[in-house]
Amino acid sequence: MKRLLRTLITLAVLGTGSVLSLALYYMASGEIQTQLRQQVEQVHEHVSERFKVFDELLAYDERQIQAHAHHTLPIITQVLTKEPFDPIFWSPDKLQKMAEEYQVDGIYVIDRSTTVVATNFLPDIGFELGTINDDFRRYLNDFFGSGRLEVDRINVSSKTGLITIYAYFSPEGSDYIYEISYDVKKYLSRNRSTRYMNFIFGDFFTEITSTSQLLKQIDIYLINNYSAFPFLQNGQPIDLETLPDIPEHTVVKQDAGDIIYFLSRADLNRSRLHSADYLVIRTAFDLSPFEMLIQKMLSISTLVIVAVLFLAYVLIANLFDRWIMQRIHRIIQALEHTAEGDFSDSIPVNRQDELGLIANHINKMSRRLANREQQLREAQEHLEKRVEERTQDLRAEVDARRKAESKLIEMATTDPLTGVLNRRAFSDQAQREVSRAFRYHRSLTVILLDLDHFKEINDTYGHLYGDKVLVRTAELINTCLRSIDSHSRHGGEEFLVLLPETTEDEALLLAERLRETLESASLETENGTIHITASFGVASWKAGEHSVQAAINRADKALYKAKQLGRNRVVLYHPEVENSTSS
Ligand code: GH3
Ligand code: MG
Ligand code: MG
Repeated sequence: MKRLLRTLITLAVLGTGSVLSLALYYMASGEIQTQLRQQVEQVHEHVSERFKVFDELLAYDERQIQAHAHHTLPIITQVLTKEPFDPIFWSPDKLQKMAEEYQVDGIYVIDRSTTVVATNFLPDIGFELGTINDDFRRYLNDFFGSGRLEVDRINVSSKTGLITIYAYFSPEGSDYIYEISYDVKKYLSRNRSTRYMNFIFGDFFTEITSTSQLLKQIDIYLINNYSAFPFLQNGQPIDLETLPDIPEHTVVKQDAGDIIYFLSRADLNRSRLHSADYLVIRTAFDLSPFEMLIQKMLSISTLVIVAVLFLAYVLIANLFDRWIMQRIHRIIQALEHTAEGDFSDSIPVNRQDELGLIANHINKMSRRLANREQQLREAQEHLEKRVEERTQDLRAEVDARRKAESKLIEMATTDPLTGVLNRRAFSDQAQREVSRAFRYHRSLTVILLDLDHFKEINDTYGHLYGDKVLVRTAELINTCLRSIDSHSRHGGEEFLVLLPETTEDEALLLAERLRETLESASLETENGTIHITASFGVASWKAGEHSVQAAINRADKALYKAKQLGRNRVVLYHPEVENSTSS
């Protein structure tokens, strides 16, 4: 984001710099154009004014020249016609000497065919004046032998551009016209002071051009139908064809590279300059110094603008960094802490602007989250405590139930007085052993024993001691049994022993050992020592029997036999037992 902003600001700086520079350039250009136009108008005004003065002054000189011509031309004519006029004799050199002598510039002799037959100006010899125009031809034709002397108006030669006054004289009856001419400039330089000449032709332009750095040159052209020629000898030539149409009181602009020309026109309606229709004033401005100046100005101003804008940019970027970016980073940091679950980070808020508001809200949010988390933690702790308590309760409950259950099981399967299996549990156990013996063809034997004269013990020592005797008997039986054997309380003082994997002989041995164990045991009471004996009936399960009940019945019969035989003995069941029992 920061980089994007920097790029945008840099572009804005450069853009603004360029626009300002361009605006400056166009302002300067527009201003200079206006200035140039104003200068052209000033020049035009000056030239017009000066030309009026020039015309006025010329009126006086023209009269002087006219007077000189009236005086001089007849004399020259006299000299030329001392003898009959001979053009061959009057060479240009001779005529030149004569011209210098009489202070004229040109001497011409024109014959009837209006052709120059003799003159000091060599290029004009043979020149047919009638070709100038028809009016002039008629004028000349009327002149021959007229005896008139006429001085023409100031004339500008379309051939040479010379400003000239011509005087014509043709004596009566003559076939020639004698003509003298005055180059006005030369005349003035001969008869006037240098200051006067400079005033009219020289200083004026240097005066004007020196007023402006850009004004390079002023040219004045006399324009007629035939040509455009410089009024001043050193004026830059101009082609009539390329001269644009210049309506009066307007300025026409011509571009030529660095030089700009402005052409304006001054009419010569009442001027003494004969044969010129109007004046064209060409003002040349050299814009190269201006361009250089503008470029210099532009580069300096561009540099200044860019420098100022760059400084502004650095300042703004710094302020932006301090006011915005640093604070945004601080906010991001706080948000990161919050995201990581650390709500303790509080953003310092110094300003109540938009970022300040955001920071305030984030602080508020962090505080609320911290509170919420605290509440959650407390709730969780509370919940965990409750769960723990409940778990302990449940555990206690489960223990109690388990105890109750095992108690129930115990109660359901054991005899409450002696703790040995009760009849039902024994029956289940015996059924499992019958199945195994049946499946694996093993032997299974039972011993049924009954305490002898137990009623007497009860009667003699009390029922409580009778119970103790029963408990003791169960313990003693247990000490003689293997782990796979089991025994139960079969009735009041009868016990049943189940012996898996045991033959009748082995069972007889065990029964005998049990009998001896009980016989040798005793129980002390406050009324004396109790001695007990028991009678034993032994019978084995027979393969094919589905329960042990038949074997128990047989054992019962053998037990009965043992009681009959005098008690405290072991009897193995055999069919005879049954016979003798029943007898
Ligand atoms: P015999 O030698 O013929 O077996 O004589 P006996 O006295 O042992 O036989 P009898 O069947 O006449 O008496 C059994 C007595 O056992 C009767 C009864 O009061 C007593 N008896 C039965 N169950 C309990 C008992 O749980 N506790 C006590 N103390 N006596 C019991
Ligand atoms: Mg009994
Ligand atoms: Mg008994």
